[in-house]
Amino acid sequence: MRPLDFRSDTVTRPTAGMRKAMAEAEVGDDVLDRDPTMDRLERRVAGLLGKEAGLWTPSGCMANGIALMLHLKRGERFLAPAQAHVLGSELGTAAWLAQGMPEALPWEAGPGRITPMQVWRAAGAPGPYYTLRTTLLCLENTHNFAGGTCLSAAEHRELVEQAQGRNLKVHLDGARLWHAAAAQGASLDAMAWGADTVSVCLSKGLGAPMGSVLCGGRDLIEDARRIRKMLGGGVRQGGVMAAAGLEALDYLPRIPEDHEKARRLADGLRSMGFKAPVPETNILLVPVPDAPSALAILEEARVRVLPVGSALRFITHRDLTLADVDEAVERIRGISDRLVTTWEGVRPMI
Ligand SMILES: *Cc1c(COP(=O)(O)O)cnc(C)c1O
Repeated sequence: MRPLDFRSDTVTRPTAGMRKAMAEAEVGDDVLDRDPTMDRLERRVAGLLGKEAGLWTPSGCMANGIALMLHLKRGERFLAPAQAHVLGSELGTAAWLAQGMPEALPWEAGPGRITPMQVWRAAGAPGPYYTLRTTLLCLENTHNFAGGTCLSAAEHRELVEQAQGRNLKVHLDGARLWHAAAAQGASLDAMAWGADTVSVCLSKGLGAPMGSVLCGGRDLIEDARRIRKMLGGGVRQGGVMAAAGLEALDYLPRIPEDHEKARRLADGLRSMGFKAPVPETNILLVPVPDAPSALAILEEARVRVLPVGSALRFITHRDLTLADVDEAVERIRGISDRLVTTWEGVRPMI
């Protein structure tokens, strides 16, 4: 049986078009005097996000790490919604490399969502010399471990305004900002409004083999280029990778198809009694009391997922068709009597 891989939207393979673009990419030495194709990709993504400049990085973790290093001084505190990728899934780079102190804000506005008032409260007032300094808000849109939930452009704007009112910088982890914008019917620049830096992934959902772009003001991105080099992320003929990234952007208008696949999967699972919310984007969390045994049973049906807290995470992507989703539902129907799901006592991740 062919495996149906819902583990992540990073499992996609580069398309024939990407491989051709990579083979034919115009390249230069990006460390010495820039690579023209990387330059083209960086300008294109910065333009989409309404920022002055962009910087290609090999991964989203590096882009976020660079952003935190740009914004934080040693011992400064940063705020992020609970279970944000920068808090729990980047091996502590916020502390190890950026020397910042994390503060997780609980989801008071719903899964993955925080309120402007929480930002205002947590940021605190300037205070006397012995006051802890909170200097950065990290947002995440869509919120991965909350199940791909998204902030609207208006919610995003209110959070940024509140942060700015407290003199906080704002970094937006927009690994799947594409998905948030598509789900909200909003432009990418509206979804990135006011953020000092934004990272977006070309390898999440869009199909590029690697690469993220960190965008922001021109001076900040020049500093980011230095930090990228320090981290070993200065590459030479990176145009080979950037060419795939440019090609991957052509998938943007098709993102809603992946959301449709996730909704169809959720409907199918719900029809056989699974507790499945209506997914907002391409991530579906199905709560189960015993994730390891559920994973093993699904593996017998060659349906691959990842555990996230006490839920199973299904992610739809361009390499799974609607027919694949239907097939997954049928395979799961065949084993559903052995799978238990419950909302009781189960909270994804927290
Ligand atoms: C995957 C992910 C990242 C990191 O991207 P990598 O390219 O895997 O390093 C950052 N933030 C979020 C929300 C993600 O889902």
